[in-house]
Amino acid sequence: QTRNPGEQEFHQAVKEIFDSLVPVFAKHPKYMNNGILERISEPERIITFRVPWVDDFGKVRVNRGFRVQFSSAIGPYKGGIRFHPSVNASIIKFLGFEQIFKNALTGQPIGGGKGGSDFDPKGKSDGEVMRFTQSFMTELCKYIGPDTDVPAGDIGVGAREIGYMFGQYKRIRGGFEAGVLTGKGLGYGGSLARTEATGYGVVYFVEEMLKDQGESMKGRTVVVSGSGNVSIYAMEKAMQLGASVVACSDSNGYIYDKNGVNLETVKRLKEVERKRISDYVKEHPQAEYREGCSGIWEIPCDVALPCATQNEIDANSARILVKNGVRAIGEGANMPSTLEAIEVFLQSGVLFGPAKAANAGGVSVSALEMAQNSMRLAWTFEEVDAKLHEIMINIYRTSMKAAAEYGHPGNLVVGANIAGFIKVADAMMVQGLV
Ligand code: NDP
Repeated sequence: QTRNPGEQEFHQAVKEIFDSLVPVFAKHPKYMNNGILERISEPERIITFRVPWVDDFGKVRVNRGFRVQFSSAIGPYKGGIRFHPSVNASIIKFLGFEQIFKNALTGQPIGGGKGGSDFDPKGKSDGEVMRFTQSFMTELCKYIGPDTDVPAGDIGVGAREIGYMFGQYKRIRGGFEAGVLTGKGLGYGGSLARTEATGYGVVYFVEEMLKDQGESMKGRTVVVSGSGNVSIYAMEKAMQLGASVVACSDSNGYIYDKNGVNLETVKRLKEVERKRISDYVKEHPQAEYREGCSGIWEIPCDVALPCATQNEIDANSARILVKNGVRAIGEGANMPSTLEAIEVFLQSGVLFGPAKAANAGGVSVSALEMAQNSMRLAWTFEEVDAKLHEIMINIYRTSMKAAAEYGHPGNLVVGANIAGFIKVADAMMVQGLV
């Protein structure tokens, strides 16, 4: 804490991992030596930069850009770019730190990184988003490349922003390095099923947790927070598996449609028209809209999928979910549950799929996009989806195995942290003091 003052989210992420590693040190003291913990929690490089741009009224605006290149122990830095007014060094560092272990868990050769800006895309015109994004990439392009650091999307960064970033990178660097970004459009090197990957992956993961108990998603009532990329495709897959999704949200409030959310409407409102979730009730008057975000966790459900943002479930919301009989939690967002909320879930015996494992589907398909770009091939949707499904099952099994091996059977938080850590720590040890 003295080394990184005031970086609350970063401290939280590091604490969660380090607490889980106690049984590893007890069994294998070698992981305590060589300064592995000190090294792994210090980014290899942090880049902070000025992003000046001109708004539609000719006024110069200035935002701050970040790229944290956290670990290249097992592959090039890989992790999304977030555009949201809350972005600061602590948030990007927590996301980059989590990404190291998540990426290791996928079984793909990718290191950990993350980036972003405190730019708020909400209410900005297409032209403003383009000018900002080009200015952001004008600086970022000096530090990334297909074998160095490969950014992707995250909150506030979707296909439109990736397109603008790719265009600017190409213009400055020349050539056509498709593998420099993932989440690209299908017409210029993107992978089928990347848009769906994180949301689908979360539900595949939850289905696997349930299957192990002889249960399934079929007939379950599901609540999903957010209505962005992860949320929409988590809803879609849950519905495909026979569940009923009754609620979703945005940063202003949530809708409750007890007969089942109409996904086509949500997709159109959020993906095409860029409207608010409150507009849903204008078309579906039987549904209710309520202001505020945490109220969504008061809706009784079997499966809760927090897919919006960090710390959206606190201990109180966790207790309400448990009291209302929730059976499984799948974290689609990064660190959506506070440490206290995780404790409530683990104590209560609900099935808990932590973000690092449950939301790794997006980055896994990003790695598949890199592979396709390298081979100059494009796999079909079915091929990519089948690989994604297999990767999610493997992540579940690897995490369960590590949890059992280190004395915490069934605890996927501990299992995912340990499995990810050991892979990265082993690579660091054989590479000498880097
Ligand atoms: P989007 O920008 O597409 O959607 C984010 C959603 O969450 C929106 O509905 C947004 O509402 C809501 N939201 C954002 N910030 C807040 C907040 N402070 N309080 C309440 N709601 C909020 O982002 P993604 O779907 O891509 O990302 C969602 C989460 O999933 C993030 O934690 C991200 O890091 C994580 N993730 C994403 C991956 C991906 O492949 N996209 C991969 C792995 C993890 P509003 O429209 O009002 O802003």
